[in-house]
Amino acid sequence: MDLYQILTTHNRPWSIREIVIFVFFLAVVAGFLLLRLKAHRITIIIPCFNEEETLPVYYQAMLPVMKQMNPVDFELLFIDDGSSDHTLLEMKQLHQKDPRCKYLSFSRNFGKEAAIYAGLSKASGDYVAVMDVDLQDPPSLLPEMYKILIEEEYDSVATRRSDRTGEPQIRSFLSDSFYKIINRISKTEIMRGARDFRLMKRNMVDAVLEMSEYNRFSKGIFEWVGFRTKWLEYENIERSAGETKWSLKKLFVYSMEGITGFSVAPLSLASVLGLLFCLISFVMIVVIIIRTLIWGDPVSGWPSLTCIIFMVSGVQLLCTGIVGQYLSKTYLETKHRPIFILKDSSEKENI
Ligand code: UDP
Ligand code: MG
Repeated sequence: MDLYQILTTHNRPWSIREIVIFVFFLAVVAGFLLLRLKAHRITIIIPCFNEEETLPVYYQAMLPVMKQMNPVDFELLFIDDGSSDHTLLEMKQLHQKDPRCKYLSFSRNFGKEAAIYAGLSKASGDYVAVMDVDLQDPPSLLPEMYKILIEEEYDSVATRRSDRTGEPQIRSFLSDSFYKIINRISKTEIMRGARDFRLMKRNMVDAVLEMSEYNRFSKGIFEWVGFRTKWLEYENIERSAGETKWSLKKLFVYSMEGITGFSVAPLSLASVLGLLFCLISFVMIVVIIIRTLIWGDPVSGWPSLTCIIFMVSGVQLLCTGIVGQYLSKTYLETKHRPIFILKDSSEKENI
């Protein structure tokens, strides 16, 4: 008995037309399921610290992009980095409205680097992006970034700003100096003006997660792990609302993190300076001995001696300080403290 006979030997026999419609319906459902199964998932990590104003604006800006990129399955993973305003409440409301929006909430402010790490460790996507919530990282770039990863042989698409308009001059100057110094003394090339906004494939995300150091400097980590990265440029965009969370002091600490995390050259500088001063002192001793032998030993020259003592002790303190910087980082690493602590999450099993 063949399929046709089975289908037609019921009380109410199926007509050929009904069978065709049934098979067509099955094919459509199977096709849809296959498309869903095959559709990639993109997790977007969005660190937020006191961003109650910018959060809804960000979500509204993401809606058309997510629609445009259908059938890609999105997961918007908001990280509340210990905000003291209503950021967490906004995240909870978004989660209720749209289950694609998920959140993690820290027990205190652990910093953007910790938020990025938390996001990477909980992301479930085949592709993972890191984005600021203030729309300084344009969501409209996402389709292009995704297309590059799908069609070209890159593992990551990163972004950098082509200019620094709207930024105080002193900040631009310090930032430029930082890139000059770090690229001269570190083997890891840090792209000038690089932003944290990037889209990565899963293999790169896993590599970044392998680097579970406590003192984190993502711009360096993303370069250190290697993989092929394509750089896109865009003009600086002003914040959609609210204010920058980066004071000059925070930026200075962050740049020290970069330098100590990716170069040991300052330690060598300490030894080079030590050697240089030994040589100088040796030459000076010889000069003084010869001068005393020729012209006798009048009690003069104490101001220059004081200056030399000040300078040499200054250099010594500087070198001790450099060693101290590295020692303090090593000290913190050996404690193996968690990079972040969660107090709440949309997926309760995450805590
Ligand atoms: N951010 C964070 N923790 C912090 C500081 C900032 O999660 O301790 C987030 C912030 O909410 C924003 C992103 O990091 O989404 C970038 O911060 P901001 O816009 O203040 O920095 P800028 O763009 O001025 O460098
Ligand atoms: Mg910003």
